[in-house]
Amino acid sequence: MISSDFYAPNNLKSLAEALKVKRERHDVYIVAGGTDFSIFRKKQHLMDFSVIDLTQIEEMKEITLKEDFIEVGAGVTMTNAEKSPILKRHTRALTDAAGWMGSTQIRNRATIGGNMANAAQCADTVTASCVLNATVVLMNAHGQLKEIPLEAFILGIGETALEADEALIRIRYPLVGRNVYSGFSKVGSRKNMSISKLNLAIRVEFSDQHVENATFCFGSIGSKSILSKAMSEHCSGRLWNETLLSELLELGSLQVDEAIPGRDSRHYKRVAVKGLISDVFQEISVQRMGL
Ligand SMILES: Cc1cc2nc3c(=O)[nH]c(=O)nc-3n(C[C@H](O)[C@H](O)[C@H](O)COP(=O)(O)OP(=O)(O)OC[C@H]3O[C@@H](n4cnc5c(N)ncnc54)[C@H](O)[C@@H]3O)c2cc1C
Repeated sequence: MISSDFYAPNNLKSLAEALKVKRERHDVYIVAGGTDFSIFRKKQHLMDFSVIDLTQIEEMKEITLKEDFIEVGAGVTMTNAEKSPILKRHTRALTDAAGWMGSTQIRNRATIGGNMANAAQCADTVTASCVLNATVVLMNAHGQLKEIPLEAFILGIGETALEADEALIRIRYPLVGRNVYSGFSKVGSRKNMSISKLNLAIRVEFSDQHVENATFCFGSIGSKSILSKAMSEHCSGRLWNETLLSELLELGSLQVDEAIPGRDSRHYKRVAVKGLISDVFQEISVQRMGL
């Protein structure tokens, strides 16, 4: 017989207990903000199912500055991520992504953990977190924790490395020096009301005036976020100026062609990507000026 149960753990220990039930039954779903789950439920015509509600677990809503990294609870909402001074200072691409996601109502509910666990190819905080070298911490029904790179966590569209008895507990962002800047932008029907059709995050580490390391991560041009090796290599040792920008615009278009060669959307994406590169490039220039 199917029963519709509602589990509302208020700490990680009771979450582990609830995960034991989830391991044994296929009708138990983890729900955080519910913004993706409510659509999934409707599409699947789910009637009888049980829920593990994460919203009562306070430790999953914390943002903590540690010695070497920043720890963000999987239950942190986009609104709280956007407002966090710690994240704004150290992980700007993430706060940009959180701030532009959906509407105010969506941002008040939607969590970073939910965005990652849902694993849409357009998930904004995934692209941003990928460029920031994030790792994710998972917990199983025994309460055991495991940390893996975000890149290894996302396997493809809607697919993650989560086992049946695991939940995503927190995300870690390595702390970086003062000469590192990042930014994010996206193309949607309307910038902050829509799911991204294309998104981009850039992270740059400078040594004096020159680029020491640059990372470019694209979302929505593949089944998971794509890092552009060609663009990174092209920036190495260069000045961050208009000449470099115009070269990156061309490389960005090539990256789109390479990623989605046969798709109709490549025609507009190869143009749109130039706008994104330009936006984030300028944003990083502004941050460097301390504005
Ligand atoms: C109108 C609208 C606009 C949107 N705009 C955007 C946008 O601009 N950009 C964007 O990226 N997304 C957007 N989304 C998608 C969605 O809001 C985000 O993906 C959101 O972050 C999901 O978080 P949630 O807490 O609501 O997840 P939920 O809906 O609660 O869960 C999503 C999935 O993740 C699983 N899950 C959630 N938390 C955990 C956890 N801690 N451990 C394990 N599994 C977990 C659930 O089981 C479920 O499968 C939009 C959605 C809507 C409806």
